[in-house]
Amino acid sequence: MNRETLLLEYYKAMLGARGHRGWWPAETPFEVCVGAVLTQNTAWTGVRKAIDALRGHGCLDPEALDALPLERLAELIRPAGYFRLKAQRLKNLLAYLRESCGFDLAELASRDMLQVREELLGVRGVGPETADSILCYALGMPSFVADTYTRRILSRHGLLPEDAGYDDMRDFFMDVLEPDTALYNDFHAQLVGVGHHFCKTRAPLCGECPLGPFLENPPG
Ligand code: SF4
Repeated sequence: MNRETLLLEYYKAMLGARGHRGWWPAETPFEVCVGAVLTQNTAWTGVRKAIDALRGHGCLDPEALDALPLERLAELIRPAGYFRLKAQRLKNLLAYLRESCGFDLAELASRDMLQVREELLGVRGVGPETADSILCYALGMPSFVADTYTRRILSRHGLLPEDAGYDDMRDFFMDVLEPDTALYNDFHAQLVGVGHHFCKTRAPLCGECPLGPFLENPPG
């Protein structure tokens, strides 16, 4: 079985077991951008509280957030952890969005994906996972998001080494799958769900996992 077919079999197994994940949980593309920074090294529950606090204070639009003093922003996003660092990172991202497209995310989404990715990676505090999350989930561009769950699942299935780098993981998907934003969107979300619910760090629940059959009977 070639890698494209294999990956699609993995995806179908997760989709069949768990349904479409409907990721990313946000009301606007800009909210995705904010969440992509806030979720760095943090569980989603804290991110949700921080986003709710921003929304509650009328700061969940680009101009309002841009005008918010750094210290006030840090206070509001405290539940997301590393709040001073993340406040500065949000300000850096806001400066990029203001200068590059005047906060017109639809216009940004119409540009060349690789160029926008390079620009995002040039923003201090925006790494590849954050950049790809913004590209895929905020801008609707076909950029696959990889993360620690991706690495754990692929390595446990013998598909990539445990120390695979971010680009190796991303390329593992993007080299063979069609550039399909909807597929990339849900595939990543499925891997996050499987990683969170089944592929535990110490004791993976392979017997209950939708990907369990691939361990027992690797596709030929
Ligand atoms: S829990 Fe087991 S079957 Fe599921 S992804 Fe992890 S290693 Fe694979």
